[in-house]
Amino acid sequence: MRIVNNIAEAKEEIGFARAAGKRIGFVPTMGYLHDGHLSLVETSRRHSDYQALSIFVNKIQFNDTKDYEGYPREFERDFDLALRAGVDLVFIPSDDEIYRNQLTFVDVEHLTEHLCGATRPGHFRGVCTVVTKLFNIIRPDVSVFGQKDIQQALIIIKMAMDLNFPIKIIISRIIREEGGLAMSSRNKHLTPDMKTRARSIYRGLAAAERAIAEGERQAAAITAAVKKELDAGKPDKIDYISLVSYYTLQPVKQIEGTSVLAVAAFFGSTRLIDNMIIEKKEGVFSCVY
Ligand code: AMP
Repeated sequence: MRIVNNIAEAKEEIGFARAAGKRIGFVPTMGYLHDGHLSLVETSRRHSDYQALSIFVNKIQFNDTKDYEGYPREFERDFDLALRAGVDLVFIPSDDEIYRNQLTFVDVEHLTEHLCGATRPGHFRGVCTVVTKLFNIIRPDVSVFGQKDIQQALIIIKMAMDLNFPIKIIISRIIREEGGLAMSSRNKHLTPDMKTRARSIYRGLAAAERAIAEGERQAAAITAAVKKELDAGKPDKIDYISLVSYYTLQPVKQIEGTSVLAVAAFFGSTRLIDNMIIEKKEGVFSCVY
């Protein structure tokens, strides 16, 4: 495994792999790797021959300085995990090289209006800008994003289409800890008590799944089922519990086509997100979370 910290070397390494006829897979991350990240590498491997993974805590996507400064960073540990996951290239660029005198930013409209777009102004502009830059540096054939950040994944798919990136974007399933909490680098900030309480997010999604299986289709009733479970975990704040269309990410009053039930809540000062995709298959709604 090669570890490179500058753009020129990353391009050179990838160039060798491409010249050898390999399909390039790419997983962008902010580091402090966990099994969720590593599962994206596994997914990528099924579609490509060479695995590139970036580690970059992208300052411009943080709307809270404390969150940025306190974001867990343990790069030696990351390198070890990446090596064991069979990553071929870790790209860990400097802030300075990525954003030196940058005046250009990428904004995706409409899909960014609700959910995290509403509660974290500028967040997706930061994400889309850095992903665009990373795509142009790595030039992958395939790039994998987690369903855990479903709004992000759907925005990246739209961005790749709109900007004609010749990249296949894949959404990979959510990896959870025992008890159902979605893995996240930010879970490191949770005390054992917060972690126990935060499992209420997953229980909320499970309650919504049961309600849907029993025939419930109304957004108000489905989000209320989530809230009841979530409230039992005593979150410090709920940012949103929202049912939106999978295609437009706009709120819907009831489930008709494919939908996303998304949750964002704080436990202590740590903001956690999770979601469930509700899909109609052969006339029956199935929930993926
Ligand atoms: P991050 O390092 O948090 O920016 O995440 C990098 C990528 O890993 C994103 O595509 C996330 O959606 C994905 N990811 C984060 N947590 C999980 C998880 N628990 N399961 C699957 N993918 C995840």
